[in-house]
Amino acid sequence: MRRKISILGATGSVGGSTLDLVTRSPDRFEVVALTAATNVASLAEAARRTGARLAVIADETRLPELQGALAGTRCRAATGREALIEAASDEAELVMAAIVGCAGLEPVMAGVEAGRTVALANKEALVTAGSLMTEAARRAGATILPVDSEHNAIFQCLAGNRSVDVARLILTASGGPFRNASAEDMAKATPEQAVAHPNWSMGAKISVDSATMINKGLELIEAHHLFGLAPERIDILVHPQSVIHSLVEYVDGSVIAQLGSPDMRIPIAHALAWPERMPTPAERLDLARIRSLDFEQPDEARFPALRLAREALADGTAAPIVLNAANEIAVAAFLDRRIGFTDIASTVQRALETITPQPPQSIADVIDIDREVREKAHEIMPLPAN
Ligand code: NAD
Ligand code: MG
Repeated sequence: MRRKISILGATGSVGGSTLDLVTRSPDRFEVVALTAATNVASLAEAARRTGARLAVIADETRLPELQGALAGTRCRAATGREALIEAASDEAELVMAAIVGCAGLEPVMAGVEAGRTVALANKEALVTAGSLMTEAARRAGATILPVDSEHNAIFQCLAGNRSVDVARLILTASGGPFRNASAEDMAKATPEQAVAHPNWSMGAKISVDSATMINKGLELIEAHHLFGLAPERIDILVHPQSVIHSLVEYVDGSVIAQLGSPDMRIPIAHALAWPERMPTPAERLDLARIRSLDFEQPDEARFPALRLAREALADGTAAPIVLNAANEIAVAAFLDRRIGFTDIASTVQRALETITPQPPQSIADVIDIDREVREKAHEIMPLPAN
């Protein structure tokens, strides 16, 4: 039996890798729905190629263009919030959540509340609504499978063990393109330098997040919600080769790691095929050629975003939503050359100091807080340099 899959964020980096795997295994998957923000050509091409029945474009002005591009197919073109929710919760048994940012939260929750299996790449959804989402999954009987490479690694390392026997989780971090850069060079860094990740090829936003290392902070929050460990029992270790994707230490002193070449198709395939395995064309790991693996402590002085994320999680309030929204607007401003690279972390810090909402009771509260931070963006971001 083929599994019905929908891919949210099908035109992105994770979405594209998912399409690649799914089209290589047509006997395993039937694509029912695809979504994208603005890229009509690439969405329509993927819909035609996979035979999807629903294609959703988030930008409403582009619906006529999408309808034109799908003319003569059996694929329905749609737009708007309801259509995104339909893509996540109607026909699909398996939902790949690969929208970037808090924009993916509502469709992810729709999939969870409908009791689907959700392969979750969209870490911002879990960062902003972690407990609400894990509680909803428990209520609805939904399964959340981590796609983020570190969390997928931990999920694999936990298999067959009792959670009470886990001593700590160790999230590895590549350190990003500025691992050895001076604070002065980082202040002058350009978007081109920041998105040039040494090991992984990813979307622009997560590439900048890796450069500031807030990505590892978001992943700390993500790991806390996925695996239920106290933040003090989740460590971060810089490992520049990105071969060990994360580790679990047990009470007896055993440490289990998951290794592989840095290709997102490996964790994506794991989530798509779970509890089975499926082949991928990813390069095989050749340890004799790699020869040595390096490790070092993260430097919180040059990467203050790490500390900000840890504090936001310890705060126990709405701080992770503020952290995430301020980061999203600051990263967009940096990519637009309106602020400098080191202004990203200072914007996040100012937002956390000045915006202190009550803890959210519902997804609607999360969305309101996210909107409030975006509206206050002009007050918390530094003025353009010129
Ligand atoms: P990307 O920018 O390459 O793609 C994002 C996708 O989301 C695109 O299809 C885009 O059309 C869609 N999208 C963007 N804004 C939207 C909106 N407002 N409404 C609806 N759709 C929207 O991003 P990516 O690198 O593929 O990352 C996707 C998610 O996966 C992120 O949360 C990221 O943190 C996470 N992730 C990515 C990688 C990676 O290797 N790229 C690794 C781990 C985790
Ligand atoms: Mg990751």
